[in-house]
Amino acid sequence: MPMYSSLVSSQHNPRCSNSTASKRPVGIVTPENEAEIRATILCSREQGLQVRIRSGGHDYEGLSYLCKTPFIIIDMRNLRSITIDIKHETAWVQSGATLGELYYHIAKKSQTHGFPAGICPSVGVGGHFSGGGFGAMVRKYGLAADHIIDAYLIDAKGRLVDRETMGEDLFWAIRGGGGASFGVIVSWKIKLVRVPPKVTVFNVHRSMDRQNTEIVHRWQHVAHKVQNELFIRVIIQYIHDDKNTSVQALFNSLFLGEVKDLIPLMDKSFPELGLEPEDCTEMSWIESVLYFAGFTSGEPLEVLLGNETDPYVSYFKAKSDFVTKTIPKHVFERIRKKFLQQKLVFLIMDPYGGRMSEIPESRIPFPHREGNLYNIQYLVKWEVNGVWASKEHIHWLRALYRYMEPYVSKHPRSAYLNYRDLDLGTNLHANTTYSEARKWGEKYFKGNFKRLAQVKRSVDPYNFFRNEQSIPLY
Ligand SMILES: Cc1cc2nc3c(=O)[nH]c(=O)nc-3n(C[C@H](O)[C@H](O)[C@H](O)COP(=O)(O)OP(=O)(O)OC[C@H]3O[C@@H](n4cnc5c(N)ncnc54)[C@H](O)[C@@H]3O)c2cc1C
Repeated sequence: MPMYSSLVSSQHNPRCSNSTASKRPVGIVTPENEAEIRATILCSREQGLQVRIRSGGHDYEGLSYLCKTPFIIIDMRNLRSITIDIKHETAWVQSGATLGELYYHIAKKSQTHGFPAGICPSVGVGGHFSGGGFGAMVRKYGLAADHIIDAYLIDAKGRLVDRETMGEDLFWAIRGGGGASFGVIVSWKIKLVRVPPKVTVFNVHRSMDRQNTEIVHRWQHVAHKVQNELFIRVIIQYIHDDKNTSVQALFNSLFLGEVKDLIPLMDKSFPELGLEPEDCTEMSWIESVLYFAGFTSGEPLEVLLGNETDPYVSYFKAKSDFVTKTIPKHVFERIRKKFLQQKLVFLIMDPYGGRMSEIPESRIPFPHREGNLYNIQYLVKWEVNGVWASKEHIHWLRALYRYMEPYVSKHPRSAYLNYRDLDLGTNLHANTTYSEARKWGEKYFKGNFKRLAQVKRSVDPYNFFRNEQSIPLY
């Protein structure tokens, strides 16, 4: 059994580990099989304890390992097996596996299959799939949750159910509605997708001066409309080194095809970027996973299997928005000026459109589909933690978020569950009602929130699986 201190200190957002509001858990269970999960649930219920379910531990607000009342952590680290079936283009993956492990095992079996999930290899399958999950193939194939075809879950009564026995309502709810409100998801059956033997990547930096603010503005008109095989995200960041102090826009791209097809496509649709063949590199899809994850070229694929030196661990606070109308140029100029006040700050803009616009809003709980040009993630990080540092950075990010209000989605101003943000609202007590929770719930789920609350009532009527942002009963 891991020690709580080592579990907490290895979290991806150590800001949360310093939380004084959380108690220490009564125990940490690392089940080896379904029977041990079932026993933990039944025992916790009997003892009046809460459970927290942790797969990869990346929750932005620490909800997989923090709790204000006595609780037990179910840590899925020992349930991480992956079985790939190339003949049927499917796989079974247990929740404790990471995305890196999944991508690695797919690539070991096939050079022409992949899976459209997130970019960071150390993210856990359990939280990521149950909250939606998108990465560089989002425009071609949609979300990870769009490709789930079966799952095993243990419910509040300790029953092990699959898609057939849980029923279509619960199976709908766990594909984007967040797993932690409904049970412990042990494993997922996914449909793999096809990728070409060669893909192309590029990273092009542009300083955010007047001319390049224009390029970012232009990107908004193009990125959601180009051919689905092309994904170009923009990361606006502050660069500070010996030579340079500036705000830069990084155009970070995956093209599911070869350079010879990419260049004419870019010349036609986005000539303002001035992409040259020398900016591009062809590689296999699995090498592009390493590229996006920031590994240097030539690293063995096995780096996807470990997270001992995970470069992503840092104190941070994030918030998210969806953009439905292009943002005026002067706003990017203002963002540039604001960024000069902070060092570790990022605006990550991921284009939607393509397959995302074809899937109806209610197909799964994740509702941000047609009409969304792109998603924004606002991220501020800091190196030395402390009450004052944390307050100062979070205050800064909240001010930026307030400033952006007129330019992003409205009624509701929507947000992405996997970029969890407790500022949106929380359940103040165990019996928080549906109408109280609508404040934050409709931001994540829009019209799907009601159905999620109805499913919750039928599968967990005593609200055993709950946390600060769990689905209430309708
Ligand atoms: C560095 C970093 C990079 C990221 N990159 C991306 C990205 O590219 N795309 C993207 O879409 N998101 C991304 N995310 C967000 C990520 O998808 C979410 O934080 C996700 O919820 C993490 O899942 P986890 O299993 O690692 O986290 P955990 O903290 O273990 O779990 C998150 C939530 O899911 C619940 N949960 C976990 N496992 C289970 C289970 N087996 N059954 C039921 N409930 C469960 C937890 O209780 C918690 O509420 C990133 C996050 C980080 C920190």
